[in-house]
Amino acid sequence: MIDDETPVLDNHLHLDPDNHRGIDAVRDFARLGGTHLLVVNKPSWHLEVEAEAGEEFRPVFERTIEIVEDATEELEGRAWPVLGVHPGLISRLVDDRGYDPDEAREIMHGGIDVAAEYVARGEALALKSGRPHYEVSEAVWEASNAVMRHAFERGAELDCAVQLHAEAGEEMTEVAEWAKAAGLPAHKVVKHYAGGRLEGPVPSVMSEKDRLEVAAERGEPFLMETDYVDDPDRPGAVLGPKTVPRRVAWMLENGLDEAVRIAHIETPKMVYGIDTVETLERA
Ligand SMILES: [Zn+2]
Repeated sequence: MIDDETPVLDNHLHLDPDNHRGIDAVRDFARLGGTHLLVVNKPSWHLEVEAEAGEEFRPVFERTIEIVEDATEELEGRAWPVLGVHPGLISRLVDDRGYDPDEAREIMHGGIDVAAEYVARGEALALKSGRPHYEVSEAVWEASNAVMRHAFERGAELDCAVQLHAEAGEEMTEVAEWAKAAGLPAHKVVKHYAGGRLEGPVPSVMSEKDRLEVAAERGEPFLMETDYVDDPDRPGAVLGPKTVPRRVAWMLENGLDEAVRIAHIETPKMVYGIDTVETLERA
């Protein structure tokens, strides 16, 4: 069982109270022992925002910040927003809306810059960027890498972490080098939807038992997530909001206490500078 002193953080999920479960999902998470959440804004087009400039991302970010405030009310710890531009947006801009890759890159840079304003004001914790996880043209790939490097530059200026959505794999050292070149240390770059092992950025491990066993055995910094999408059209697309606390309980039952400490206390502190112990007030 999870005791009162153990923080339990889901490092990447989405909440959509306007269309699906929203805060009910947070209550489920909290009831099972979950205490802290990093809530990532949904892809802009899911909220019917077809941005043509960075400013147009603002309502998406503002809504996420409101949702985080409501989520915090339900938690013994708290929630924080992670804001940015989903890398899949480039395909919508280029394939569906007729922008060339350079124009798409500029729109996405603009979105990252607006997200960075919220981090600068202390209203968001980290940035979200990345590159497509599917096959794209050379020009789209280059533009996507440029967007990701732009996010690293903003992250370096703000001293904030950057969460990445990217292709599957266990090796991203080149990307970590780009971050370092921009002034952002590799330990502030997080690859979401990761397996248990990753060279370069810090893996945010999808909370399946086999992936967690690999991460625990490795003994390196890692985070745990569900990528819960809170989308009525994709109910089984990802793990549910109860998964991280359930897996933490399972890890503790199986003697993986050290891995729990790494994923829920040490790594959050190292990556984001957050203190999940100090911000935990169990009733
Ligand atoms: Zn996600």
